[in-house]
Amino acid sequence: MGRYTGSVCRLCRRSGEKLMLKGSRCLTPKCALDSRGKPPGQRLGRPRRVSDRGLQLREKQKARYTYAILERQFKRLFKEAERQLGITGENLLVLLERRLDNVVYRLGFADSRAQARQLVQHGHIMLNGRKTDIPSCLVKEGDTISWRQESTKTEYYKQLVQSIEAKSILNWLGLDRQKLVGQILSLPTLEDIDTKFEGQTIVEYYSR
Ligand code: SF4
Repeated sequence: MGRYTGSVCRLCRRSGEKLMLKGSRCLTPKCALDSRGKPPGQRLGRPRRVSDRGLQLREKQKARYTYAILERQFKRLFKEAERQLGITGENLLVLLERRLDNVVYRLGFADSRAQARQLVQHGHIMLNGRKTDIPSCLVKEGDTISWRQESTKTEYYKQLVQSIEAKSILNWLGLDRQKLVGQILSLPTLEDIDTKFEGQTIVEYYSR
């Protein structure tokens, strides 16, 4: 199955929650969930009852939509989370946060994860000084994320240098705001992750 190319606002409406997939637009009155509310295709009237299985599926899809990854990649991460010591649901959330595209987004280099993925895929980002164009690559403690020299000449980069001052970043990340070099200070913990879904419910979905 290919990547979803439809309206991302539709995914929020289907989940019934603001998944913040469009960056700063999500905070404006233009947000489709605020203006249209109900799930796509649902008519007025009593909302449909959702089964436990449906709720688990919805939770899993919310996580997948948030990190914009395919089912195959998501399942692979879940298997990895199962292999690790500790609680699978928590391991999964930490693995999702460690993806390079997510870290680029969390550092404030992009307005959304979709944009961060593009920056990585187009070769603008370096991981530990080496160009890395694989968004799913997992970062580890001590890694540095910087910009390729050629990319620092772009208009996007110049505007980012101006606007990055106002952006706040999470505790597990460090950022040199002059050079736009990020560092992984430690691996994220659950407290660091502002996700809107339950890891345990996703575990229940895959446990059947
Ligand atoms: Fe979701 Fe953002 Fe679209 Fe609102 S604007 S529906 S939060 S993607």
